[in-house]
Amino acid sequence: MIAASENIGVYICSGCHIGQSIHVESLEAVAGAYPAVKKCSVSENLCSSESCRKIAADIREGGLDGVVIAACSHRVAAEAFHFDEVFLERVNLREGVAWIMEPGDENTQVAAEDYLRMGIERTMYSAHPEPYLIKDLSSDILVLGGGISGIQCALDASRAGYRVHLVEKEESLGGWLNRLNDIIPIPGYPKTDPQEFLKEKLDELGADPGVHILTNSTVKSIEGEPGQFTVEISWGKKKIKQVVGSVILANGWKPYDAGKLTHLGYNKHKDMITQIELEEMVKNGRVARPSDGKTPENILFIQCAGSRDSEHLPYCSNVCCLTSLKQALYLRKQYPDTNVFIIYKDIRTPGKNEHYYHEVQRDNRIFLTKGKVSSVEKSGSGQLRVVVDESLFDEQIGITADLVVAATGMVPNASEDLHLQYRQGEGLPERKYGFPDSHFICFPYETQRTGIYAAGSIRVPQGISDCMEDASGAVVKAIQSIESVKRGEAVHPRSGDRSFPDLYMLRCTDCKRCTEECPFGAYDETEKGQPLPNPARCRRCGICMGSCPERIISFDDYSIHAVSSMIKSVSMPEESSAIPRLLAFVCENDAYPAFDMAALHRLRISPYLRIIPVRCIGSINKIWLSDALSAGFDGILQIGCKPGENYQCHYITGSELMETRSENIRETLQTMMLEPERIHTEFLEIDEYKRIPEIIEEYLAVIGKIGPNPFKDM
Ligand code: SF4
Ligand code: SF4
Repeated sequence: MIAASENIGVYICSGCHIGQSIHVESLEAVAGAYPAVKKCSVSENLCSSESCRKIAADIREGGLDGVVIAACSHRVAAEAFHFDEVFLERVNLREGVAWIMEPGDENTQVAAEDYLRMGIERTMYSAHPEPYLIKDLSSDILVLGGGISGIQCALDASRAGYRVHLVEKEESLGGWLNRLNDIIPIPGYPKTDPQEFLKEKLDELGADPGVHILTNSTVKSIEGEPGQFTVEISWGKKKIKQVVGSVILANGWKPYDAGKLTHLGYNKHKDMITQIELEEMVKNGRVARPSDGKTPENILFIQCAGSRDSEHLPYCSNVCCLTSLKQALYLRKQYPDTNVFIIYKDIRTPGKNEHYYHEVQRDNRIFLTKGKVSSVEKSGSGQLRVVVDESLFDEQIGITADLVVAATGMVPNASEDLHLQYRQGEGLPERKYGFPDSHFICFPYETQRTGIYAAGSIRVPQGISDCMEDASGAVVKAIQSIESVKRGEAVHPRSGDRSFPDLYMLRCTDCKRCTEECPFGAYDETEKGQPLPNPARCRRCGICMGSCPERIISFDDYSIHAVSSMIKSVSMPEESSAIPRLLAFVCENDAYPAFDMAALHRLRISPYLRIIPVRCIGSINKIWLSDALSAGFDGILQIGCKPGENYQCHYITGSELMETRSENIRETLQTMMLEPERIHTEFLEIDEYKRIPEIIEEYLAVIGKIGPNPFKDM
């Protein structure tokens, strides 16, 4: 069923130079031509509390179900223009017309009138979304992993008033802390004994009645959606079921497999160990060469053993440098006759930890040098000879050591430990370098599975103090998710959005596009292959709406029909006028704000362009492109966030999907006997606003060359 607003109020602002640029009285006439528009007025200062009170009164007394605010960008004055229980459309006359086009010009006026018509059309085919409310919600949080991240998650969540189920596969909590001899200092905590530190944390946990600790336990399955995940836990010999509102994965890391570093010969040399093996050796009482049990006199550390190396781990693991410096210091303290050599690519000691570096430099039996270890071989004396290239000495050097320690990096543990009963698999989709975080830049802690968050070294390589901070961040996200579901609202990046995809299943052909393309695994599937929506998993990106060839997925406030009507409402210049008309679908996450930025800087943008903001360029349905071409648009721009490894797309795969769908789009153009240049995709970061006029002008030149759309006058 198509959503609709039937009693619409249109409110036009003439302030902020809109009135000097646009003839607003003509806009009233445009609005008056729509029978659904029951009220229309112009105000000099529409965002004033007096004007907003009048609008609220019109809604109440006039029974309005749709309101069109023709004023500034929807990205500003959101609080002033907040009206309950009506569909609200913002027509951007200020940043979208008055500030970027020639004041008083005929084309500026045409643009303003088009935008108003587009806004009214959208309102006519949209409705205020009713929230998706689930009964019997749980506010409990499942934390998987009992290392420092998991412990801190449990403490923080419980302190905030949420009951926690902390699941740990080992028989005791603490994770790697149980295997360390010493810890890198934690800000605000003076001691470095891991056992003392762990004991204090465990005492806090023990005294907290809000934390239910399950050791010797594993998660067997998780099904459902945020607010209502059913978790099956194997607890010793028992099986228990628990319903939780959200999940935090804090199952940590493992060291990179040193056996893969064949050029170093870890598997070949008994006297080469890893940092963690050294830590355990010291904790157990004595440092000894594995080959003969003797105390080593010369110990050499190889930093970045496999890290920052495209063949192994391309990233920096954050704590290996600090760990080697820490180990060098305690070795020198316990074994004063030992010499320590540290070969590094760069020494990284972020923040206050720089003091470690200075302490090590002061010790004249610790030798630090930059270089690249090219090989480690056994010497005649039974020691290991380490060959270093590209050293500071500008020549190859060889160092003989009794014990070599490889500072290997961190690898995230498997997210399949969650055993998600999702159509898309048991684990979390991995992004850059195999970590499951869903957006490094904008949304840390969030994974591609809504309501499931990642904390600690499963998310990004980090040490103890960062893991604790991370835990607090993930807990905030888990709580936000629980509370948003209670209100029937989306989480990031459309937090507060109450719409959700509505499927007209009678016309579904079981093609599975929606289930396959939803980046967040929101759809499960029936045996027949029909989508089974889980609305609380949905992030409201609209990508499924873009993917559905039958066009049966829409939102109350963002639909195939509403956007098609907007497209068809744009006035089309006659072919003989030689005025081109371009349409741009602009992603509202980065690209639309960039357009607003361009307006703030008063950059001139062509008046021949009409913009439709979209939730993601992945939500553009092919029918909108055919509609635009049939309506006579000469060219269509799709402007979205950058895809690829350093993607900016807020819905992760939207921009990639748009690229892969381009093939189909080319086919559409062929069937319409149109040139491929009629549809063009651009990727734009928010700070690239200066490029916008150039992008539009260049595209206008391309369109100028191929000539007007042959459908224009039909
Ligand atoms: S594709 Fe986007 S809108 Fe559609 S179900 Fe998935 S998250 Fe929701
Ligand atoms: S994309 Fe549309 S037609 Fe295909 S399975 Fe999903 S709802 Fe059905």
